[in-house]
Amino acid sequence: STAPDIREVAVLGATGSIGGSALDVIARHPDRLRASVLAAGRNVEALIALCRRHRPRHAVIGDAAAFPALRDGLRAAGLDTRAHPGSELDALVAGDACDTVVAAIVGAAGLPSTLAAARAGKRLLLANKESLVLAGELLMRAAHEGGASIVPIDSEHNAIFQCLPDAHAHGGLRRIVLTASGGPFRGRDRASLAAVTPEQAVAHPKWSMGPKISVDSATLMNKGLEVIEAHHLFDTPGERIDVLVHPQSLVHSLVEFVDGSTLAQLGLPDMRTALAVGLGWPERIESGVSGLDLLAQGGRLDFEAPDLEAFPCLRLAFDALAAGGTAPATLNAANEVAVSAFLQRQVGFLSIPALVEDTLAAHPAAAAGTLDVLAEADRQARRHAEAAIARFA
Ligand code: NAD
Ligand code: MG
Repeated sequence: STAPDIREVAVLGATGSIGGSALDVIARHPDRLRASVLAAGRNVEALIALCRRHRPRHAVIGDAAAFPALRDGLRAAGLDTRAHPGSELDALVAGDACDTVVAAIVGAAGLPSTLAAARAGKRLLLANKESLVLAGELLMRAAHEGGASIVPIDSEHNAIFQCLPDAHAHGGLRRIVLTASGGPFRGRDRASLAAVTPEQAVAHPKWSMGPKISVDSATLMNKGLEVIEAHHLFDTPGERIDVLVHPQSLVHSLVEFVDGSTLAQLGLPDMRTALAVGLGWPERIESGVSGLDLLAQGGRLDFEAPDLEAFPCLRLAFDALAAGGTAPATLNAANEVAVSAFLQRQVGFLSIPALVEDTLAAHPAAAAGTLDVLAEADRQARRHAEAAIARFA
């Protein structure tokens, strides 16, 4: 058995961009961190390769059809890692196989396991922002009731967390300023965006990320989701959350207090910093990221207002937050469908906000007290957006 001070970490979304960064930090600290559960969606080969390297106790594959390949592949590799189908993920996350959970599955598919970690009182490193957008109130309540501590794994929210480590003592907080890189199309007007390709949209100037969040960054929906995420994480109304475009992506966000002080966190754009904050907290541990040399980075920090005409997704997200109830769930689901259709070249870039707006108009906000109501709003929005794709193609 392992020493009690070793943190046993479940990495959900292990084959993804955040998962890879988390495993990189974990592998730097064999004396204090251990990858005990690895979960992925469907890429069995990549998951087995990670198991060879990190020797987890458990490996989970979401795609049921891929389970036999995982089980046989682990056996053939001579590993004693136990294979599990996705249906066992929530129980593994809630059980004693881990005390820390990196929730880095992409999209609403991450909600059940994220909720399971919150209810079970785990140290929750929350990258899966869609679960907060879809069910933020329920998730925050589950974390509170379950005794889970949440460290946000989104560079902006991790920055705010570092500036505001005691989330319950921020009476003096006046506003939150989320920074945005502006994405690959910053400075372009709306008309010029009609013909951009998925390849152009995922080529982010500052961050290397999975395809879905990369497209979200290009539309600024990512920043919109982050506004809703910040509202839930820091119990702050949308009117006190601002967005500032900062192309260098070195200032990760700012927090302003009633006394006129503004605190910010700066660093190179590398998610291993945020992951090391979460994995080591309250201690600071090595992440593999070097310090910031502002002169080497060009010696300047620029800021500008976001262009809501070229990037209406940001406005749609602020509106959905203000409407409340099921509106953020509808926004998120329609966006997932629209981004997937864009990546498959079924619709153009400008159809992403159009599909989201069309879905929100057809499914106005309703009260959302339960997970069932939110799940139904999510399903209806997906159905509406799928059916609307042909109209927007
Ligand atoms: P990615 O596409 O690189 O990885 C997604 C991971 O989720 C993969 O490992 C995939 O196998 C797994 N997955 C998908 N469906 C699954 C299922 N049903 N069961 C189990 N695993 C499943 O995405 P990413 O860029 O790593 O982003 C992951 C999450 O983190 C997203 O919610 C994103 O918004 C958030 N996030 C990412 C970054 C970043 O820098 N990449 C920054 C902030 C927040
Ligand atoms: Mg972010």
